[in-house]
Amino acid sequence: MSMKDLIYKYTLQNAIKYEGKANPGAIIGKILSEDPSLKEKMKDVSKEVALIVKKVNAMSLRDQLKELQEIAPELLEEKKKEEGPRLKPLPNAEKGKVVMRMAPSPSGPLHVGHAYVVQITAALCEEYDGKFILRLEDTNPENLYPKAYEMIPDDANWLTNQRVDEILIQSERLEEYYKYAHELLEMGYAYICTCNEDVFRELSGKKEECSCRNLTAEENLKRWERMFLDFKPGEAVVRIKTNMQDPNPALRDWPALRINEHPHPRKGTDYRVWPLMNFSVAIDDHLTGVTHSIRGKDHMDNEKKQLYIYKYFKWKAPTAMYVGRINFEGFELSTTQTRKKIEHGEYEGWDDIRLPFLAAFKRRGYQPEAFRELALNMGLHEADKTLSVEEFYKLLNHQNKQLIDQIANRYFIIIDPVEIEIEDAPEKVVHLELHPDHPERGKRMFQTHKLFFIQKEDFDNLEDGKIHRLMECCNFKKMGKRFIVVPGGHEEFKTTMNKGRILHYLPVSKEYVNVEVLSPEKKILKGIGEPLLEKLEIGSLIQAERVGFMRLDNIKDNVLKFWFTHR
Ligand SMILES: [Zn+2]
Repeated sequence: MSMKDLIYKYTLQNAIKYEGKANPGAIIGKILSEDPSLKEKMKDVSKEVALIVKKVNAMSLRDQLKELQEIAPELLEEKKKEEGPRLKPLPNAEKGKVVMRMAPSPSGPLHVGHAYVVQITAALCEEYDGKFILRLEDTNPENLYPKAYEMIPDDANWLTNQRVDEILIQSERLEEYYKYAHELLEMGYAYICTCNEDVFRELSGKKEECSCRNLTAEENLKRWERMFLDFKPGEAVVRIKTNMQDPNPALRDWPALRINEHPHPRKGTDYRVWPLMNFSVAIDDHLTGVTHSIRGKDHMDNEKKQLYIYKYFKWKAPTAMYVGRINFEGFELSTTQTRKKIEHGEYEGWDDIRLPFLAAFKRRGYQPEAFRELALNMGLHEADKTLSVEEFYKLLNHQNKQLIDQIANRYFIIIDPVEIEIEDAPEKVVHLELHPDHPERGKRMFQTHKLFFIQKEDFDNLEDGKIHRLMECCNFKKMGKRFIVVPGGHEEFKTTMNKGRILHYLPVSKEYVNVEVLSPEKKILKGIGEPLLEKLEIGSLIQAERVGFMRLDNIKDNVLKFWFTHR
């Protein structure tokens, strides 16, 4: 089947599943699982998918059904298999006019928590033909990580299959924030407070105003100039006038800009006046036309603060949707802590296999669509949720397995090989499929004799007297220290009352390759693999039978080094 036909049929199938509108991310997963060789031509595939999605989405649902019935009726059967709650419709949304943003701070790369928000945002943008802005919030010059400016866009694009439409960096936009701060001061909606922070807090706690609140615009503008010149850090902040009687103390005249002389990784010491989060967020959301924002529930107060800016400028505020806190129990998600541990050599880097950052998942062979499916199944809810490491992996692995099962060819890898002799074992050529569902991919072949390598774990656990089987080769019994062939094939093994283990193995020869598998706990499992593994390209995903899925990460000194994905 040509690439175009393949894309066409899955696009039709996807469109029918989603009321006539196909979504490219899900299609690509299907195409790759049917023809993994297309992975090398991802650019062409993506382009073609975009074209075909456009064409198919322009068709009526009835025509789509008719077409698919004709070219691939078997795909219609799958229609009912949809699982889990999907996203609810966006309030106040109009197709083609939705703009959303995801706004991490570049203090480190993205982790599993970010992945959830990225996927939800990207999915909504896709659904509404919207625009997805990635905004790097770096107006606190402290605790920024220069490499994150590249890592975050890479991570977000990997997760969303290049779905990010625009990248904004807040430190590039300081003049904008100054302009609007200036306007607010002029209009009397903001003032520059030179009170000691503790003094202000005490007054504010008693719902009392400080003397700065009643300065004239002229006096405020003079102070504004001095913020750029001679005021020292902590001596002056711009405050937004709200309501000093507000029952919530956090909302009373909140600070919008402050002085910070800490050198900025991109701007050095060119600037000393920096906006605080609520101010820059409000200005940016407006200037970039954000229509909907997904915010953590803990940001409800912040939205109330930002609404003052919208009110003063008579701007229309974006629709905020709140998401409960997802507590990833057992994961270390702190970029600051992780950075320290990387610097101290406790972790090798952000892609250390033990870390929950996306770089590690990539190297292990996880597919971005697995994160997408997981996020969509979790949905957008205000209730807090706790996910333990075990639960998280169970859900993610379930999704990932569906995506890679068809891609990954099967091979034998023997961890901790032990040599055994099976008396009377047949000398024969064993044929095994590279993938049982895809005979067209070819076969592996072994010439067997009576000596075999099996895994130590199997060797240690073979029960005496039971009938065991070497896949596609022979049945045997263990009698004390002896291994003896038992007549019969797979059928006899399956039906015996005395069934033991079914093993993978390698005939003893010099043709095997040396293999190391890095486990998620960062243990190196050493073993040997069948000769055909030598033909793998770096980055290939395989399923080592009875061991698990893994990705070939590198080859060093003739040792194939895999990273374990999951079982
Ligand atoms: Zn004051």
